[in-house]
Amino acid sequence: MSELSELLSRNFAWAEKIKSRTPNFFKNLSKRHKPKYLWIGCSDSRTAPDRLLDLPSEEIFVHRNIANMVHSDDASCMSVIQYAVDHLRVDHIVVCGHSCCGGVRAVLEDQTSGPIDQWLRPLSVLKTSISERLQQASVDERSLALTELNVVKQVTNVCGSTTVKTAWEQGKKLSVHGWLFDIRTGILRDLLGEINSAEMAASIHKQYF
Ligand SMILES: [Zn+2]
Repeated sequence: MSELSELLSRNFAWAEKIKSRTPNFFKNLSKRHKPKYLWIGCSDSRTAPDRLLDLPSEEIFVHRNIANMVHSDDASCMSVIQYAVDHLRVDHIVVCGHSCCGGVRAVLEDQTSGPIDQWLRPLSVLKTSISERLQQASVDERSLALTELNVVKQVTNVCGSTTVKTAWEQGKKLSVHGWLFDIRTGILRDLLGEINSAEMAASIHKQYF
């Protein structure tokens, strides 16, 4: 059996197991898509949100890319935010970075090239301010500092998106959060608390940038 045939077999066994426990599970799943959370995270395979939050995957709407970036000209990310807020009516958007991030490390060590270099260019700008502040720090310390600052930056980008600004102007209940997942411990850390207005977002931007 090829590796991918094995995956299909695993899927079949998984579906059968669920149906044997809850016969209407897939019928019910097909009728409802109402996640409360939008998760914007890194593509790193160790950071799947449903696993680390211990939640069923249908409760989290997910967008992931290398180093959890939010570019205002990225139609994919902007569409996800628009769909999550305007149609799914999520209450929370979480931007989550993580320790041991290959994208962050590549920028720190000037190892990027091609499309990844273009994708991570905003991180290079943040790297300059980190490098000045943490000249004596170890690579791991600088990597974590850059990861944290990147989460804050991407949170402010989410807050600056047309969808989120409009939602707040219309008085919708919507909070944006910046978290950090430590792969070494399995623990999530809240970096910024709950941001639920343009004023709060502006204050955080002023504080950090
Ligand atoms: Zn990563």
